[in-house]
Amino acid sequence: GASFTTVESGKLIMSTNAAFPPYEMTDDNGQIIGIDPEIAGAIAEKLGLELVIEDMEFDASQTAVQQGKSDICMAGLTVDEDRLAVMDFSNSYATGIQVIIVKEGSDVTLDNLGDQLIGTQRGTTGDIYCTDDYGADHVVPYDNGITAVQALMNDQVDCVVIDNAPAKEFVAANAGLTILDTEYALEDYAIGFAKGNTALVEAVNGALAELIGDGTVQAILDKYIAA
Ligand code: GLN
Repeated sequence: GASFTTVESGKLIMSTNAAFPPYEMTDDNGQIIGIDPEIAGAIAEKLGLELVIEDMEFDASQTAVQQGKSDICMAGLTVDEDRLAVMDFSNSYATGIQVIIVKEGSDVTLDNLGDQLIGTQRGTTGDIYCTDDYGADHVVPYDNGITAVQALMNDQVDCVVIDNAPAKEFVAANAGLTILDTEYALEDYAIGFAKGNTALVEAVNGALAELIGDGTVQAILDKYIAA
C-alpha cells in the first residue's frame, strides 16, 4: 500500500488555470475538461482517489500546491529551474514549445523580437523568458493567453509568445493570425507538488509510468491535439 497522504482524505485536489486549451478549458456546461483533467483522472483512479479540480489564476495554481492547499498543480506547467527551487515535479508527460503568434503579413521574426512589444500570459515561462531576454519594457503580461491574443488583434502588441498547443487553438479561432515557424523555446510539462512531498510524487510517478507505458497518456494527447 502507498504511504502518501493528501490534503483531503480520499481526494486528489488539482489546482489549474482552465484557460489553456487543449490542456485545460471549460466546456459549454461549465465543466473543466482537457488533457490535464483526463490524465489526472486516470492517475487518481490508479491511486484510489477522487479527482477534485480547482480553477484559479495560473500563478495561484502554483502557489496553491506550494502552500499545501492542493495536492497537484497541473496546468501545462513547464519544469524550470526557478520553479524547481520552490516545488517538486513529477516525471514529464508532454512537451511544449514557446512559439510566436503574429498578424499575417507582419515583419516580426525571432531575430527582431527584441524590437517588439510582446504580449504574454502573466507568470508563464514565455513571460519570464521574454522579460529576461528583452526587458520588461518589451513585455506586456495579460491575465490569460486569449486576452493577449485579443491585444494582438487590436494592435496593442506586435506578437504573442505562448505555448504551441493553445497558440494553435487561438490562431484557428481568430482569422488573420499565424504562428512563426521559428520556435522560441522547447520545454517539458510535468505535475507540480509541494516541495518535499516525496511520497505523493513517487505514487503519482508510479501511476504515470503505467499510463505512459500502456499508451493511455498518448491516447489522451492524440484525442485533444490534431496531428
Ligand atoms: N507552459 C507554460 C508555463 O508553465 C504556460 C502554462 C500555462 O499558461 N498554463 O509557464
